[in-house]
Amino acid sequence: MSVYCLGSINIDHVYRLKTLPLAGETLSATGYQPGLGGKGVNQSIAALRAGAAVTHIGAVGQGDAWIARALAEHGVAMDCIAAVDRPTGHAIVAVDDAGENQIIIYSGANLAQDPALIEAVLAKAHPGDILLLQNETSHQLEAAKAARARGMKVFYSAAPFALDPLRAVLPHVTHLLVNAGEARALTEATGTPLHAQPVEAIIVTHGAEGAEWVTPGGEPLFVPAFKVTPVDTTGAGDCFAGSLAAALDYGASKSEALRYAAAAAALQVTRPGAAPAMPLKSEVQALLH
Ligand code: ADP
Repeated sequence: MSVYCLGSINIDHVYRLKTLPLAGETLSATGYQPGLGGKGVNQSIAALRAGAAVTHIGAVGQGDAWIARALAEHGVAMDCIAAVDRPTGHAIVAVDDAGENQIIIYSGANLAQDPALIEAVLAKAHPGDILLLQNETSHQLEAAKAARARGMKVFYSAAPFALDPLRAVLPHVTHLLVNAGEARALTEATGTPLHAQPVEAIIVTHGAEGAEWVTPGGEPLFVPAFKVTPVDTTGAGDCFAGSLAAALDYGASKSEALRYAAAAAALQVTRPGAAPAMPLKSEVQALLH
């Protein structure tokens, strides 16, 4: 089986500064580090490291050599990534000596996905394959509909949370993935409890507490988090989502897949960064045994 991911690809431009700039102020950075980011590509890398066959569908700016190199380093193939007439999505991150930050995000190419490419790639998928979606790209709805028409499972991370795109895509989603804050926002905005949402399963992550699998009409299944000392929790939810999809794609049961994802995310939060911190299957298995 295979995992497909229509997802965002960003460059995070991280600048270190003594203090954050005030309005109208010009400051020199003391350091600069570019990094690969975007919830979509983070999920693809997590699934790849978990051993899944992953096809990442996305869009970047034309002739972006840095992103091509970064994707190759992380094992993400470029064949299904369109080069479009918009800059690669990026985040400008300023971090001061006290660890405070300011972030500007420009979605760029992530909002200019190629519908013909999405259609063509998903036409090769098989019933039971998984499509991962998050709310950082255009064409989520078209992709979800095409995937369901082929009998695929559609996993949707409702992040960043926005009610209108979620309402539109939900009828075509089989597995909804939310953190505790998103779960609360969803139930408040729709007035419908989680177990009555119109999907096969809702997977709720609760940070350092654990995660639960809610099946409408069924008993919830809870898996506690692994006890670790976190150094950077950026991308924990993406690690969990990509790892869960990979484990289920491999044939794991719900509880095995939850445990695998919890172990992967626990390792991920003990390392700095998001994509580079995604653990290998062998590392996760060592923690599980
Ligand atoms: P998000 O990153 O989307 O906000 P969570 O904070 O709920 O998501 O984290 C996702 C998963 O990552 C959790 O269900 C848990 O398995 C794991 N995780 C996150 N923080 C920790 C932590 N401090 N210790 C152990 N596991 C963690």
